[in-house]
Amino acid sequence: MLTKNTKEKRKKQSRLPERLLITLAFLLLINVCSKAQDSDSISPELQKTQFTTDTSFIYQIPFETEHSHMLVQGSHSMFSHHNQYASDFYVKPGTPVCASRSGVVIDVKSDSKVHGLRKKFLSKGNHIIIMHADSTFAAYWHLKHDGSTVTEGDTVQVGDIIGYSGNTGYSAFPHLHFMVFRKNENNKRITMPVRFRTQKGICYLKPGHKYCRPKRKNAQR
Ligand SMILES: [Zn+2]
Repeated sequence: MLTKNTKEKRKKQSRLPERLLITLAFLLLINVCSKAQDSDSISPELQKTQFTTDTSFIYQIPFETEHSHMLVQGSHSMFSHHNQYASDFYVKPGTPVCASRSGVVIDVKSDSKVHGLRKKFLSKGNHIIIMHADSTFAAYWHLKHDGSTVTEGDTVQVGDIIGYSGNTGYSAFPHLHFMVFRKNENNKRITMPVRFRTQKGICYLKPGHKYCRPKRKNAQR
């Protein structure tokens, strides 16, 4: 006869492949959705990364150097980045998250332990927001519980570890949501397309590709 503990153990084990399949199916779905948006919502120049007059700031991939992570959802996707320039990297919980650009920490939330895809989870994402010298902001979302190593008012340099990734808030699987925004006259966040320095050169990121922050001597601040 099976004890209660053994039954529960087997139940948990049988759920594991199921969870893995759901996660993989979900990743595939948002990848497809992201690719669909590539051809519809973003300008041809941005799709082909053909801007020649773009003098905007170049951001660093927000992880430790030479650690590759898959971009699973890009900007203006049909899933959760409607009308938004943002990047979702698939990362294991507890992955160090690094400042993509230097600035001052203006907002930290790290007390949440919950996640899900219902509206009530929208406000439950642990996050860090950093203000840059040109009054733009970078947001790092879905960090783990107590996963911030910085507090409001801290100054951070590009590449500093600011926290650890997780799966909190409006989220179905562990990932880092990264976006850059400015505020308009009504204090509304306007997200911006940004380029990154990657192992493949300076580019706009595309879903379905793995990117890492290369080691370099003269990081732009
Ligand atoms: Zn996202």
